[in-house]
Amino acid sequence: IYSVRNVSRRYGELAALDDVSLEITRGEWLSIVGPSGSGKSTLMNILGCMDSPTDGIVLLEGDRLDKMGEPELATVRREKIGLIFQQFHLVQHLTACENVMLAQHYHSIPDEKEALAALERVGMAERATHLPRELSGGEQQRVCVARALINHPDVILADEPTGNLDEVNERVVIDFFHQLHDAGTTLIVVTHDAEVAAQGQRQIILEHGRIAREVTDVLSTPTKGKPVTRTEIR
Ligand code: ATP
Ligand code: MG
Repeated sequence: IYSVRNVSRRYGELAALDDVSLEITRGEWLSIVGPSGSGKSTLMNILGCMDSPTDGIVLLEGDRLDKMGEPELATVRREKIGLIFQQFHLVQHLTACENVMLAQHYHSIPDEKEALAALERVGMAERATHLPRELSGGEQQRVCVARALINHPDVILADEPTGNLDEVNERVVIDFFHQLHDAGTTLIVVTHDAEVAAQGQRQIILEHGRIAREVTDVLSTPTKGKPVTRTEIR
């Protein structure tokens, strides 16, 4: 679904991403791990149409993201991508339902029913009129998942989605990711948590802006509780 070819992202002298090449298959669950500052969020921002590389080619379903500017990138973002962040990024003065509606596709008329249905899917329907500050962290992240799903994206990109959650809420989010994955959604998840990373079929380890290693599940199955047997590639 993605093809990343020799992509670099430079900030002055610093190469936050340094000649990264990566193919991501439709329906795959890919985990991205690596130390702080290794370029994980930089890569996610490029895949998520929030930033452009300084060098290299990025294709999403055959379209050259690296050649697009706003508002083209914004359209791709809305139509194809669902974004989930560690810090939630909910609009504080809008209710859960309004936050979800805000993400609805430009061209469609805001549809409260659809937003409520998305909140229902994550078990948040009865909290639809609450403001973010009236919700727990776990509840806020479920609203974010509903927001990410509202346009039926092909890809979910999640940057540390469980970083601010306790174990119970982490489980809720992970279980939901498994449902999405089973339904064919491509998942790309940045995480510091080895257990969360192990849910993916493949892990790439970034170091200093480069892919240092890649780990693939041998007995990868689309069900919960991944096997521990893995092979090291490279
Ligand atoms: P963390 O695990 O702490 O979130 P990360 O792997 O996501 O780290 P990035 O946010 O991708 O790391 O940052 C990679 C490098 O690029 C870091 O050295 C960072 O300081 C630098 N960087 C990121 N954004 C910018 C920016 N807008 N301007 C300058 N440097 C930046
Ligand atoms: Mg980061």
